[in-house]
Amino acid sequence: MPKYSPEDIYLSELRPATQAIRGGYLSYAESHSEPLYLTSSFVFESARQAADRFNGSEPGNIYSRFTNPTVRIFEERLAGLECAESCVATSSGMAAVLAIIFTFLKSGDEIVCSRSVFGATLVMFNNLQKFGIRTRFVSQTDVGEWEAAVNASTKLLFLETPSNPLCEIGDIRNLAKISNRVGALLVVDNCLCTPALQVPLRLGADLVIHSATKYLDGQGRCIGGAICGAKALIQQVHANLRSAGFSMSPFNAWVFLKGLETLGIRMEAHSRNARTVAEWLSDHPSIQRVYYPGLISHPQYDLAAEQQSEFGGILSFSVRGARDEAWRLIDNTRLLSITANLGDTKTTITHPATTTHSRLTKEEKISAGISENLVRLSVGLEDVRDILNDLEIAFEAV
Ligand SMILES: *Cc1c(COP(=O)(O)O)cnc(C)c1O
Repeated sequence: MPKYSPEDIYLSELRPATQAIRGGYLSYAESHSEPLYLTSSFVFESARQAADRFNGSEPGNIYSRFTNPTVRIFEERLAGLECAESCVATSSGMAAVLAIIFTFLKSGDEIVCSRSVFGATLVMFNNLQKFGIRTRFVSQTDVGEWEAAVNASTKLLFLETPSNPLCEIGDIRNLAKISNRVGALLVVDNCLCTPALQVPLRLGADLVIHSATKYLDGQGRCIGGAICGAKALIQQVHANLRSAGFSMSPFNAWVFLKGLETLGIRMEAHSRNARTVAEWLSDHPSIQRVYYPGLISHPQYDLAAEQQSEFGGILSFSVRGARDEAWRLIDNTRLLSITANLGDTKTTITHPATTTHSRLTKEEKISAGISENLVRLSVGLEDVRDILNDLEIAFEAV
């Protein structure tokens, strides 16, 4: 049994590194590691207790579609890290986006969304037209465009900062002013930074979403997501979870929970390696341009430095040439993994135009800046000299 209980310890008093390891309370007998409740349902002592659990007069678990103790520890721990009152875990990052739409929007409402969001988010928002929900896409970096796009029907402002793959930075504080003025929710996808590097709720965001699949897991094993924010908002999402079923599996929650324990030191190490790779690429003759917010040459270096404590593990670069040269570079790496995932201990290399962003039309790709010669790296935790060596050998082959 832990020596503390929710009554005698306030999670907000724990520093982040401690919160990541100790946050989330469960009375779990003698097990030092958080137990995995791999069960679909929970038993009741009597018919009376079953009735009371169902009618809500007695708190407690009923069925893992809506509550599970292992999922609960993950939610509490992540909420603490995001400085949120509450958190709800979802089956994937995209399920988290869908849950927000399903909960807070209706026909006739509008979304204002950065053009630089994750490919599947763009596709989903476009598909909402058939439900009478319109999305206006704007520049991630031009606050004036957001200002011009909002109106009385706007219910959601949505962005991801830094963006994937171009690492554009959104100005969370100024966008929060716009969303407050029109009474809309500002939602930030904090996938690339994680709370270890950036806490959007502190900068004025209303909700933070995660693809836990990426850095929260950190080792590329499970799919999952989460939404963090004020209790009053998260309760509404949770009520929908019960009927819509976008829930996180307890096994995945257990994996993410253990991932959170090393999040801080992993994000520091990812950032350190990525900065070294970005600087090395900047000096490379085969490179046209490097996109990494930690480079002084990045147009929003100052904003990134203000919002984030470090610059993260994702960077992109354009090679001299076109798709052929980008593909040849990718194919000639031997150590790096050719895969679309990011946030893994293993460095991954991706051609966004033909993979993560392939469902965009040619015009959408151009406006999102996804060129054919663009390559994305998710810099892992290998010795950075081996990462550079593998890239150098691949460049020589191109
Ligand atoms: C991967 C990703 C998502 C989607 O998450 P899934 O867990 O794959 O559904 C959303 N946003 C960003 C920034 C991502 O990288």
